[in-house]
Amino acid sequence: MRTLTLLGATGSIGDSTLDVVARHPERFSVGALAAHRNHGKLLALCRRFRPPLAALADVDAARILSHALAAESIPTRVVGGPEGLVEAATLPGVDTVLAAIVGAVGLPATLAAAHAGKRILLANKEALVIGGALFMDAIAASGATLVPIDSEHNAVFQCLPPTYARKPEASGVRRILLTASGGPFHPRPDVDFATVTPAQACAHPNWSMGRKISVDSATMMNKGLEVIEARWLFGLAPLQIDVVVHRQSIVHSLVEYVDGSVLAQLSNPDMRTPIAQALGAPERVDCGVTPLDLAQIATLTFERPDTERFPCIRLAYEALAADAAAPIALNAANEVAVDAFLNDGARFSDIPRVCEEVLARRTRGAIASLDDAIAVDDDARAIARDVLNIGSPPRTPDPRSSMRATR
Ligand code: NAD
Ligand code: MG
Repeated sequence: MRTLTLLGATGSIGDSTLDVVARHPERFSVGALAAHRNHGKLLALCRRFRPPLAALADVDAARILSHALAAESIPTRVVGGPEGLVEAATLPGVDTVLAAIVGAVGLPATLAAAHAGKRILLANKEALVIGGALFMDAIAASGATLVPIDSEHNAVFQCLPPTYARKPEASGVRRILLTASGGPFHPRPDVDFATVTPAQACAHPNWSMGRKISVDSATMMNKGLEVIEARWLFGLAPLQIDVVVHRQSIVHSLVEYVDGSVLAQLSNPDMRTPIAQALGAPERVDCGVTPLDLAQIATLTFERPDTERFPCIRLAYEALAADAAAPIALNAANEVAVDAFLNDGARFSDIPRVCEEVLARRTRGAIASLDDAIAVDDDARAIARDVLNIGSPPRTPDPRSSMRATR
């Protein structure tokens, strides 16, 4: 029996994960469910999965949940605030932590799970993009394990030998190819990025996902973040990571070996496949995904990404080649710009512009601690707001607000 903490239980990955978990009650049990502030949805999940612990980052929402559970005599204990997320991530008796909070705000809890030696199934790519060496060192020091849930990285993971230890040469790996759907706009050169609406940007052709990652897919920053994610997961040099646009989202990524062999993982675009692989490994579990019908799909296409129209991919490679602070700044700038696009009327075309300017103006330097990372993140967010000409969010007494507060 594997006992799971699910960080980001109310989101899209949360839904897919609990769907897989519910199919195998003899294999998986839920130790803790954590989310931001959707107490109504978390209450419904507590009724269904009966976790010992529930955590909401928003303390008011946590209080409401606590009262509602007590009224129904459901014995789930509720914790609130950022500390509650950390408690859920490090809960004794939990062996597996599925990290599916969106954004940098997920880093402290995911890092705590790494320090606690948990088996971490990682969807929250931003945590690894900004955690970088800090995160991987914590994994190595505690003996934690890290299994990627992001479909591309899970595909690479499946195509690497089981003994792979972040040393490509030792396993004869020449490079990996991350596939990208291209989002809604790569095949549409006619689209004017200055007038794209949030609804258009979130209308992904193949995947149903949260709004932030949907916008990232439309700018292709998602692929940029995934290049950085792959660098840390697999110990690759940036030149060993290529991106290829594959519009059907059937081939989820590929590994090329020195003998010319290229291994790929294929499946229908449904996140339950990588989640089930990671949850069940080394065994395989059924997860309700429609079997692949290659004859019906008939055609798989591959093309180079257009990095002129989608400069976010280039920016990610540039950040990776710079100092350790650069990916943190890039991620923070992107989070602010995407949020402004979704909620404050910023233009879609502002997103790469803000990212480029923040990379040019940001703080540089080494990252020796979580506090260093948070300081760079805070600084980059301030520059991004300045570029966008928007005010700061309300200050909370916690100086780590940008990574922890209610956005
Ligand atoms: P989503 O917006 O649907 O859900 C986000 C989850 O994070 C929610 O449960 C929300 O409550 C929680 N959250 C947000 N802010 C929080 C805070 N301050 N404190 C605590 N919890 C907070 O997003 P999603 O699509 O499920 O994506 C989650 C992560 O998985 C992202 O990092 C994304 O890049 C990654 N991912 C998603 C997919 C996908 O298909 N959805 C695929 C690959 C990777
Ligand atoms: Mg992905």
